[in-house]
Amino acid sequence: MKRIALITLGWSLAKPTKEVEQDKAQIAELLRRIGMEDRFNPDTHYYDIELEVDTETLTPLMSVLETKPSLGYLSRVDRRYTRQETELAELLIWGPTNQAIEDDYYDFFAEGDEHKDLYRRCSACGTPLQQVRDIVINKARMGKRDISLTYSYEVILSEQVGRLLQEQDLSGLELRPVQHYRKPYPGEPTLYQLAVTNVLPPMAAPPTGFEQLHECAVCGRISRFLKHTHWWGKIQYREDTAVYYPRRMLEVVKDFNHTAEHFGELRVAHPYVIITQRVYRLLREHKVKNWAAVPVYLVD
Ligand SMILES: [Zn+2]
Repeated sequence: MKRIALITLGWSLAKPTKEVEQDKAQIAELLRRIGMEDRFNPDTHYYDIELEVDTETLTPLMSVLETKPSLGYLSRVDRRYTRQETELAELLIWGPTNQAIEDDYYDFFAEGDEHKDLYRRCSACGTPLQQVRDIVINKARMGKRDISLTYSYEVILSEQVGRLLQEQDLSGLELRPVQHYRKPYPGEPTLYQLAVTNVLPPMAAPPTGFEQLHECAVCGRISRFLKHTHWWGKIQYREDTAVYYPRRMLEVVKDFNHTAEHFGELRVAHPYVIITQRVYRLLREHKVKNWAAVPVYLVD
């Protein structure tokens, strides 16, 4: 795993000419110091740069940005895993890489239909507590995708992917029917909603870190985010914490699992999906697109 710092350097065009020239010279010098002098162009006033954290070059650059923030900022640190690391992980956080499908947040109901929410919700905080009917979407939005997320974080599968999961007899999931929001249309595809039925015990925290915890006094639901706010000296940046589970949790894991924790704002808080290495390989072997997976760490 490599931690990659994403930094933007540049100069403001809104300053007096003399100051712009000074900033330009400083940016040219900074690029030279990190071995990227080739990228300097007096007509290009910003530079997106990736530098590995834990290298000699980043610390001096950050010291300059701390004293002169107008020259640039650290937007975030990404964790990048090698293929081998991903293939060795027993469990992975999994999810669609697109969120293309509007659903019941918006009104997909024909005239005269009684609006009936997809979920039974807490009357105080509005968080979804239980799905009470089939999901209704505009199926045309799925396009040629294998997998997509709805605006309310439900996972929609193409017919082919749904069948694949069924044929392989994977555990921890059910496939729910997906209804089209209007009359049937020629070539309307069969789609499925992935309903994950197994819920894991809590994560190991620490080392997993959380922030922005909110608890509803009525339903008891706690929403949170993985800790992502960090400071490099005076510079605030974003880096998502990794997810850790106790190793003994492997005894109760299924192929598909929901986390016990719900993430996001309380009204849309949803669990993450955790898959086994078996599911990861199966999806890769069958060239299923539109998803990504990140290793979960197991601790004793
Ligand atoms: Zn509530």
